[in-house]
Amino acid sequence: MGDTFPEPYQGVPLTTDAVVVKDDSGGLREYPDKLVAGSEELDRDEIRVTALGTGYPARRAQGCAGFMFEFGNGEVIIFDAGAGTNTAFNTLRVPYSKATTIFITHYHLDHIGDLPAYYDFGQSNGRLEPLNIFGPDGVDDDENMEVLVDSLKRFAGWHDHTKLGNLDPRGFEITPHRFTADKAQVVYDENGIKITSFPVPHGIYGAVGYRVEYAGSTVVYAGDCEPSTLTVDNAQNADLLIHEIFNPPETYVEEMGWTELQAKIVAWTKHTSPQAAAKVFEATRPGIAMGFHAIVAPGTPQPILDGVRSGYDGPFTLAQDYTVVNITPSQIVTRSVEVVPWDYVVTDNEYTEKMGGVQADPSVMTGLPQWLEDSVIPVEEIEEFKKQLAEQGIR
Ligand SMILES: [Zn+2]
Ligand SMILES: [Zn+2]
Repeated sequence: MGDTFPEPYQGVPLTTDAVVVKDDSGGLREYPDKLVAGSEELDRDEIRVTALGTGYPARRAQGCAGFMFEFGNGEVIIFDAGAGTNTAFNTLRVPYSKATTIFITHYHLDHIGDLPAYYDFGQSNGRLEPLNIFGPDGVDDDENMEVLVDSLKRFAGWHDHTKLGNLDPRGFEITPHRFTADKAQVVYDENGIKITSFPVPHGIYGAVGYRVEYAGSTVVYAGDCEPSTLTVDNAQNADLLIHEIFNPPETYVEEMGWTELQAKIVAWTKHTSPQAAAKVFEATRPGIAMGFHAIVAPGTPQPILDGVRSGYDGPFTLAQDYTVVNITPSQIVTRSVEVVPWDYVVTDNEYTEKMGGVQADPSVMTGLPQWLEDSVIPVEEIEEFKKQLAEQGIR
């Protein structure tokens, strides 16, 4: 096992074991050193997990929490939607028509802040179906996915009004999916993908982790939590266990001005220290253990690795944004994704056609009151176009 990490942001993942072989009897697929976004098809029995956001708070190098799971059957499921994660998604050449399912582990804003972005950009870039968002019930009656979706739709009230008539109304829909956070239970079972939620301790009641099973492989995303026997119980035989790890308290004191008390309360009693994560990893022995939620900056990864190594000697990766893991029945391969920052978001014309095309009705647009319209500085070509619209009853 390697005991030294490379420095972060060199285009290589922070891992001690880039390739973990499970079974080489059928031969092993060879992967390029980096995944160039949009360039690799998945095998039917493959899962690909891409880190969209791994830190806190969102900085240019790291969004808040979010992971995209792609499955060999063509499905895409997003777990958590922290600030910055949608920006990463937009560079990965996955069309919004596939981003229709999001699971939230808990309602901390660093896990839900980009939901409006997924909603809006999906609306206007090819999603012609409802957005489905799954999440656990919290402590009080108004802490659940139904209330969140209702609030999101109110938040987007003026926005949706302006878009009325420009966009296909099917993209305005959001469907909430509720479940309780008190026990392990199957919350999704479709097309060979089974997702079990399980409770985790994270400050107050109402946070969960997810166990995701597909084609004989298992990925567990424990969300935010203290180390827990519940995670250990529900993460047995995992190929990939994604578990949060906070930096040592000194990092928050020295670099971010937190008091020592505040840093220890947060890093040790709401979250998981590297030494504590080691206990979970040792009790589960996953194919590969992955930490996230730590601040990754020059100098910070090695103390985390050293802490993990205090009690666990198995394969380990500290996630940065764009760390990607391919999981098949034969191997687990960890790399980085190479993206083009200025790439366009992609759309899927075949999907649009299958959905009967974009069905927007411009006659329902509200338009401006006349006095405000009169203030618009005319441009000949555009005035001509507006006149044509008016003749069709569109304003
Ligand atoms: Zn968090
Ligand atoms: Zn949290």
